[in-house]
Amino acid sequence: MIRRVGRSPKIQLRWLVERFARQDVPGLFDEKLAQAGWELAVFLAADTDDDSVLRERLAVLRRVARRSNLISIVCNECWRAVTDGLTAMDGERGWRLTVPQKDVVGRWSDETEMFSWKEPDPWDFSRVQPDIGEFVELFEERIYETLGAEARRLRICLECRKPFVANGRQQYCRQGCSQTRRTRDWAQAPSRQSEDQQKGRLRSADPEEVGTERKGPTTV
Ligand SMILES: [Zn+2]
Repeated sequence: MIRRVGRSPKIQLRWLVERFARQDVPGLFDEKLAQAGWELAVFLAADTDDDSVLRERLAVLRRVARRSNLISIVCNECWRAVTDGLTAMDGERGWRLTVPQKDVVGRWSDETEMFSWKEPDPWDFSRVQPDIGEFVELFEERIYETLGAEARRLRICLECRKPFVANGRQQYCRQGCSQTRRTRDWAQAPSRQSEDQQKGRLRSADPEEVGTERKGPTTV
């Protein structure tokens, strides 16, 4: 599961845009929904390089999942957030995201004899029960981070307008789309151009044709 979602922002972005968003999450149930929920859980948790931190977070999520169907509800909410965003980014409105505000807690420590601000750990559910809103906020934050790191890779296919994650200068989501585009370009512009060029050459070769060339456009 972790391998599927990946550890680097590039692979995670690909999972988000080309796997998670392209599934019909509202139409999934039972095992398929559980699978999508777990992949989402890994995505939420995997913004750390530390394997032990990741394992701890996944254990927290497993406990949450055992107690309720929260993960599958969150899965639907998050899917809607990302698919709406991907559609909106190609429109006038744009992809709007509220980057969650951070709470900080200031404490004096007798140990260090210092005062400091600390962000509470969003994965610490020992005192508060997690709710849907918290996970969706976490998801939006993860989208923001992942896309922030790899924004240049998120593209819209110039042929079918599907969002995809590009390798290098890739402009089309798949081979088929670039082939369709090339076939159309070949069928249209270049052949017409070469016909025109041929006519042009004939006209300039024949002085009498020059006059008809001027009248030409009005008769067409
Ligand atoms: Zn395409």
